[in-house]
Amino acid sequence: MNHTIIKLLRCPVCQSSMNVTDDGRVCRCRGPRTHCFDFARSGHLHLGGPHAGEGDTKEAVLARRAFLDAGYYRQLSDTVNEILDTLPSATVLDAGCGEGYYTNRMAVGRDVLGIDLSRAGIEYAARRAKQLQTRAGFAVASLFSMPVQNAALDAVINLFAPCAEEEFSRVLKPGGHLILVGAGERHLMGLKKVLYENPYFNSTRADLPTKMKTVMQKRLQTEITVEGVQMIRALFSMTPYYWRTCETDRAKLDRLDTLTTELDFDIFVFRKGI
Ligand SMILES: [Zn+2]
Repeated sequence: MNHTIIKLLRCPVCQSSMNVTDDGRVCRCRGPRTHCFDFARSGHLHLGGPHAGEGDTKEAVLARRAFLDAGYYRQLSDTVNEILDTLPSATVLDAGCGEGYYTNRMAVGRDVLGIDLSRAGIEYAARRAKQLQTRAGFAVASLFSMPVQNAALDAVINLFAPCAEEEFSRVLKPGGHLILVGAGERHLMGLKKVLYENPYFNSTRADLPTKMKTVMQKRLQTEITVEGVQMIRALFSMTPYYWRTCETDRAKLDRLDTLTTELDFDIFVFRKGI
């Protein structure tokens, strides 16, 4: 974790700023009690409260990593990066970064802090950052109580994760931007057509910010063909349908060798007031 990212952090216990010991193994706060947090071997920190670590399981993380690494959502990642390039974005927070696919692709030419509740997700994200030598750093923590300084960031990214508007606003600099992505109405229609007799359209995210100003709205539509039953299953496991589809319907996917489906993303850019 580089020093720019350490400077963005605050102690989850006493909210003091943090620094790193000379041997680089411990992050400690400057508060009167000097709270200490060990860096994991892969380079990340555990800065969560009692609920941290309850995010996605290792199995879910592995499936998503396999799917994303195959490049099926690369266009979304590129589009988000292109938007970031047009904004002040020297320091970015990826709130709900999962296994860090998007985060590490963002962290080229800018410093990105990735936060997620899933230990398994953060572990992979941090390992990947080391391998690829990106400028991303990762911490396990809740989005609703982030170990991040006030008004510290140029931009916050929120891809499919819950929107904690108040907390995002707290960590953004005045005039900073929030990029939020949700499923568009036709997202994964091809998958839903296989599963259901009467697939319905998705509705817009219900948790859009209410206090920030919308400065841009963009729709990204494309089509992918997912190859192989493993990848199709991996895609399915990333969706909210995974948990509410019965066994008989699930089995329909296992009979496919390829799956062609629409992708449809709603991308919003909000700006915090000055
Ligand atoms: Zn402290």
